[in-house]
Amino acid sequence: MRKILAAGNWKMNNTPSQAEAMINELKGKVAGCKNDVLICPTYVCLPAAVKAAEGSNIKIGAQNLHFEDKGAFTGEISAQMLKEIGVEYVIIGHSERREYFAETDDTVNAKVIQALKYDLIPVLCCGESLKQREDTITFDFIRSQIKIAFRGISKEDAVKIVVAYEPIWAIGTGKVATSEQANEVCKDIRECLAGIYDEETAANIRILYGGSVNKDCAAELFAMSDIDGGLVGGASLKPDDFSIICNA
Ligand code: PEP
Repeated sequence: MRKILAAGNWKMNNTPSQAEAMINELKGKVAGCKNDVLICPTYVCLPAAVKAAEGSNIKIGAQNLHFEDKGAFTGEISAQMLKEIGVEYVIIGHSERREYFAETDDTVNAKVIQALKYDLIPVLCCGESLKQREDTITFDFIRSQIKIAFRGISKEDAVKIVVAYEPIWAIGTGKVATSEQANEVCKDIRECLAGIYDEETAANIRILYGGSVNKDCAAELFAMSDIDGGLVGGASLKPDDFSIICNA
């Protein structure tokens, strides 16, 4: 049985003190929530976020990591550093990182492997552009992203990964995919995973939808057969809205 996960991606928003205040506010609103709740603030907010979330049902994740253990990688953060401060999840391969920071399917794969090595749960992002959707290559494109991202990963590790299907045209645009559109891609991702591993493994991997999820559409999306929650940007910055999504 897959448990719904509501994950907030704060992107480059909030200072440490704002993060602490927002998590303190959110804690009470999601206290009785039966779904998993995750907040992913910026690196500098992580210690404050971990501390504020202590004793609550809110998990904390990073928005990125480096794929090497350590070394001459100015400005980068390692899996071990994240682990030591109490981070449990890490977003990998968000389309903004692919677009603005030249992340490739290969670096995404290396990062997923690195996260698993340090017992961090990867939230692995994939998704097509508007052009790819119009060219009707959505399924082929996403299957290729998934096959490369899971390369070299055992089925025991694969079930720890959370996949986030995020059509790029829906991120930050207010244009939510319909629940049918989102579900058919999530279902295809699951079929692709069944091809790589087997039906049972695929059935145990959580697949989220992300792209302008808001308090009004979350319940319908999360009720779909192959959608196991959401990766939420804008709406996760509003504790009232995000708590409704978490409770959806
Ligand atoms: C995201 O950043 O992953 C995202 C889905 O953003 P938004 O919800 O704002 O579209």
